[in-house]
Amino acid sequence: MANIIDGNKISQVIRNEIKEETERFKIDTGIVPGLAVMLVGDDPASKIYVKRKENACKEVGFYSREYKLPAETDEKTVLSMIDELNRDPEIHGILVQLPLPGHIHSAHIIEAIDPAKDVDGFHPVNIGRLLTGRPCHMACTPKGIMELLDRSGIPIEGKEAVIVGRSNIVGKPLFLMLLARNATVTVCHTKTKDLAEVTRRADILVAAAGKAEMIRGEMVREGAVVIDVGINRLDDGRLVGDVAFSEASPRSSFITPVPGGVGPMTIAMLLRNTLDAARRSRKDP
Ligand code: NAD
Repeated sequence: MANIIDGNKISQVIRNEIKEETERFKIDTGIVPGLAVMLVGDDPASKIYVKRKENACKEVGFYSREYKLPAETDEKTVLSMIDELNRDPEIHGILVQLPLPGHIHSAHIIEAIDPAKDVDGFHPVNIGRLLTGRPCHMACTPKGIMELLDRSGIPIEGKEAVIVGRSNIVGKPLFLMLLARNATVTVCHTKTKDLAEVTRRADILVAAAGKAEMIRGEMVREGAVVIDVGINRLDDGRLVGDVAFSEASPRSSFITPVPGGVGPMTIAMLLRNTLDAARRSRKDP
């Protein structure tokens, strides 16, 4: 039977570490790490995420500023606010909650953020630095997955890692992070032929497709580590991942539950990136 990786517990440990580091950083430098979170429109899930991020900032002693803009706000207005935040010395991290309303191009918004303040790690400069192995802000969810593996003592080097899903925010950056740690990485997507044949090769299997319980037990290799990124709401209201947990867990050595696995790590990594941004703001670029 698998060991359950407790993302709530691990993320709380990290948040406590960040809180302590922040206290010391404030005493040493007089700087309070500051995060600006921008929400355009009133998507209910986004509102919840923004609230959680704000609370997490308070908990660790950051300064946080929230901008709630109506859905009809035009792109130019958002861009000019980002420009101001880029120059604001109290703000070290800028996060624009996605998805944005259809008339705003998320690529334009992401690219307008100063890469040094891009604590989501979505700016092409940060992605390019990740690709070439240079210091950068890394996307929070895949960075959180790497922390879960490391803090659970799971070796990565030389392992076969298979990622199901190639999004810019999870699959692709995770591919780069696992590769940088010397895993042999395969990325699957909707056009992958015989998905089960590929997933069964995985020592580390990451499901990030957004398809409820699509990873069935027989797709998991005996003894594999299974990381479930998916968050899917079923018609009956239940929240499930991309992995059929009851089928996969008897075959796995480690597995993350949904909820309480990868999810809580994302905000912890956002805090980590913001503190790092505040630290780096003291140094010349
Ligand atoms: P996305 O929709 O942008 O990308 C999904 C990817 O999965 C695509 O590359 C697609 O090719 C692939 N895919 C979809 N169906 C597939 C199938 N049947 N077989 C093989 N590949 C398939 O999704 P995303 O933004 O990366 O999110 C993925 C999931 O992770 C969602 O459930 C999302 O809610 C969740 N998520 C969770 C967190 C977190 O903090 N825990 C963060 C981001 C995303």
